[in-house]
Amino acid sequence: MRVGIGFDVHRLEEGLPLWIGGLRFDHPRGAVAHSDGDVLIHALCDALLGAAGLPDIGTRYPDTDERWRGARGETLLADCAREIAEHGFSIRNVDAVVFAQAPRIAPHREAMVANLARILEVAPQRVGVKATTTEGLGVIGTGEAIAAQAVASLRLSPSFEDIDY
Ligand code: MG
Repeated sequence: MRVGIGFDVHRLEEGLPLWIGGLRFDHPRGAVAHSDGDVLIHALCDALLGAAGLPDIGTRYPDTDERWRGARGETLLADCAREIAEHGFSIRNVDAVVFAQAPRIAPHREAMVANLARILEVAPQRVGVKATTTEGLGVIGTGEAIAAQAVASLRLSPSFEDIDY
Protein backbone atom coordinates (compact mmCIF):
# COMPACT_ATOMS: atom_id res chain seq x y z
CA MET A 1 0.00 0.00 0.00
CA ARG A 2 1.21 3.52 -0.79
CA VAL A 3 -0.10 6.87 0.43
CA GLY A 4 0.32 10.32 -1.07
CA ILE A 5 -0.57 13.86 -0.07
CA GLY A 6 -1.42 16.89 -2.19
CA PHE A 7 -2.09 20.54 -1.51
CA ASP A 8 -3.06 23.40 -3.79
CA VAL A 9 -4.05 27.03 -3.48
CA HIS A 10 -5.25 29.53 -6.06
CA ARG A 11 -5.91 33.24 -5.93
CA LEU A 12 -9.53 34.22 -6.68
CA GLU A 13 -10.48 37.21 -8.82
CA GLU A 14 -13.73 38.73 -10.03
CA GLY A 15 -15.15 37.56 -13.32
CA LEU A 16 -13.22 34.31 -13.70
CA PRO A 17 -14.85 30.86 -13.83
CA LEU A 18 -14.67 28.81 -10.64
CA TRP A 19 -14.12 25.07 -10.98
CA ILE A 20 -14.05 22.77 -7.94
CA GLY A 21 -13.94 18.99 -8.23
CA GLY A 22 -14.67 19.20 -11.94
CA LEU A 23 -17.89 21.17 -11.39
CA ARG A 24 -18.37 24.77 -12.43
CA PHE A 25 -19.74 26.96 -9.67
CA ASP A 26 -21.92 30.00 -10.14
CA HIS A 27 -19.76 32.40 -8.16
CA PRO A 28 -18.59 35.99 -8.79
CA ARG A 29 -14.94 35.03 -8.32
CA GLY A 30 -12.82 32.37 -10.00
CA ALA A 31 -9.31 30.99 -9.84
CA VAL A 32 -6.32 32.74 -11.40
CA ALA A 33 -4.42 29.90 -13.07
CA HIS A 34 -2.69 28.63 -16.19
CA SER A 35 -5.13 25.70 -16.18
CA ASP A 36 -8.75 25.95 -14.99
CA GLY A 37 -7.47 26.37 -11.40
CA ASP A 38 -9.44 23.48 -9.91
CA VAL A 39 -7.74 23.27 -6.50
CA LEU A 40 -9.48 20.08 -5.44
CA ILE A 41 -8.47 18.20 -8.57
CA HIS A 42 -4.93 19.58 -8.46
CA ALA A 43 -4.53 18.40 -4.86
CA LEU A 44 -5.94 14.99 -5.82
CA CYS A 45 -3.54 14.73 -8.77
CA ASP A 46 -0.56 15.42 -6.52
CA ALA A 47 -1.77 12.91 -3.93
CA LEU A 48 -2.10 10.22 -6.61
CA LEU A 49 1.23 11.03 -8.27
CA GLY A 50 2.95 11.28 -4.89
CA ALA A 51 1.63 7.91 -3.74
CA ALA A 52 2.92 6.36 -6.95
CA GLY A 53 6.34 8.00 -6.53
CA LEU A 54 5.88 10.04 -9.71
CA PRO A 55 6.80 13.70 -10.34
CA ASP A 56 4.20 16.27 -9.17
CA ILE A 57 1.71 18.15 -11.36
CA GLY A 58 3.95 21.21 -11.55
CA THR A 59 6.51 19.00 -13.29
CA ARG A 60 4.01 17.01 -15.32
CA TYR A 61 1.96 19.99 -16.52
CA PRO A 62 4.31 23.00 -16.39
CA ASP A 63 2.63 26.41 -16.64
CA THR A 64 5.18 27.31 -19.33
CA ASP A 65 3.64 24.65 -21.58
CA GLU A 66 0.90 25.99 -23.87
CA ARG A 67 -0.65 22.52 -24.05
CA TRP A 68 -1.99 22.97 -20.53
CA ARG A 69 -3.36 26.51 -20.92
CA GLY A 70 -6.95 26.40 -19.65
CA ALA A 71 -6.65 22.62 -19.11
CA ARG A 72 -9.74 21.23 -17.44
CA GLY A 73 -9.24 19.53 -14.09
CA GLU A 74 -11.03 16.51 -15.48
CA THR A 75 -8.40 16.15 -18.21
CA LEU A 76 -5.54 16.30 -15.70
CA LEU A 77 -7.15 13.93 -13.20
CA ALA A 78 -7.98 11.34 -15.88
CA ASP A 79 -4.40 11.62 -17.13
CA CYS A 80 -2.99 11.09 -13.61
CA ALA A 81 -5.30 8.10 -13.06
CA ARG A 82 -4.10 6.60 -16.35
CA GLU A 83 -0.46 7.27 -15.45
CA ILE A 84 -0.61 5.57 -12.05
CA ALA A 85 -2.51 2.62 -13.56
CA GLU A 86 0.27 2.23 -16.13
CA HIS A 87 2.71 1.97 -13.23
CA GLY A 88 0.65 -0.86 -11.71
CA PHE A 89 -1.33 1.09 -9.11
CA SER A 90 -5.02 0.94 -8.36
CA ILE A 91 -6.86 3.40 -6.13
CA ARG A 92 -7.94 2.17 -2.70
CA ASN A 93 -9.38 5.53 -1.76
CA VAL A 94 -8.89 9.26 -1.97
CA ASP A 95 -10.02 11.88 0.51
CA ALA A 96 -9.93 15.64 0.32
CA VAL A 97 -10.79 18.88 2.09
CA VAL A 98 -11.66 22.12 0.29
CA PHE A 99 -10.90 25.34 2.18
CA ALA A 100 -13.21 28.10 0.96
CA GLN A 101 -15.22 30.86 2.60
CA ALA A 102 -17.61 30.73 -0.36
CA PRO A 103 -19.28 29.18 -2.25
CA ARG A 104 -20.77 26.51 -0.01
CA ILE A 105 -19.61 23.09 -1.14
CA ALA A 106 -21.98 20.92 0.93
CA PRO A 107 -24.99 21.20 -1.42
CA HIS A 108 -22.78 19.99 -4.31
CA ARG A 109 -20.80 17.39 -2.39
CA GLU A 110 -22.68 14.36 -3.68
CA ALA A 111 -22.46 15.48 -7.32
CA MET A 112 -18.77 16.24 -6.84
CA VAL A 113 -18.05 12.81 -5.36
CA ALA A 114 -19.96 11.14 -8.21
CA ASN A 115 -18.04 13.20 -10.78
CA LEU A 116 -14.62 12.43 -9.26
CA ALA A 117 -15.49 8.73 -8.91
CA ARG A 118 -16.48 8.67 -12.60
CA ILE A 119 -13.20 10.31 -13.68
CA LEU A 120 -11.11 8.03 -11.44
CA GLU A 121 -13.19 4.97 -12.43
CA VAL A 122 -13.76 3.92 -8.80
CA ALA A 123 -16.85 3.45 -6.65
CA PRO A 124 -18.09 6.68 -5.01
CA GLN A 125 -17.46 5.05 -1.61
CA ARG A 126 -13.74 5.35 -2.37
CA VAL A 127 -13.93 9.12 -2.80
CA GLY A 128 -14.18 11.53 0.12
CA VAL A 129 -14.84 15.25 -0.20
CA LYS A 130 -15.25 17.62 2.70
CA ALA A 131 -15.21 21.37 2.94
CA THR A 132 -14.55 23.97 5.56
CA THR A 133 -14.43 27.73 5.80
CA THR A 134 -11.62 29.38 7.72
CA GLU A 135 -14.19 31.31 9.78
CA GLY A 136 -13.31 34.49 7.97
CA LEU A 137 -9.62 34.26 8.80
CA GLY A 138 -6.77 34.91 6.39
CA VAL A 139 -6.82 35.19 2.60
CA ILE A 140 -9.23 32.28 2.31
CA GLY A 141 -11.58 33.88 4.81
CA THR A 142 -11.68 37.12 2.83
CA GLY A 143 -12.43 35.22 -0.39
CA GLU A 144 -9.09 36.14 -1.97
CA ALA A 145 -8.02 32.51 -2.23
CA ILE A 146 -9.22 28.93 -2.24
CA ALA A 147 -7.24 25.85 -1.21
CA ALA A 148 -7.56 22.10 -1.04
CA GLN A 149 -5.73 19.22 0.55
CA ALA A 150 -5.98 15.58 -0.50
CA VAL A 151 -4.66 12.16 0.37
CA ALA A 152 -4.62 9.04 -1.75
CA SER A 153 -4.10 5.40 -0.87
CA LEU A 154 -2.98 3.13 -3.68
CA ARG A 155 -2.43 -0.58 -4.08
CA LEU A 156 0.45 -1.84 -6.18
CA SER A 157 -0.41 -4.83 -8.31
CA PRO A 158 1.65 -7.88 -7.20
CA SER A 159 3.00 -8.25 -10.74
CA PHE A 160 4.64 -4.82 -10.41
CA GLU A 161 6.11 -5.41 -6.94
CA ASP A 162 9.60 -6.22 -8.20
CA ILE A 163 9.86 -2.94 -10.07
CA ASP A 164 11.64 -0.41 -7.90
CA TYR A 165 9.71 2.82 -8.52
MG1 MG B 1 -3.27 24.43 -8.97
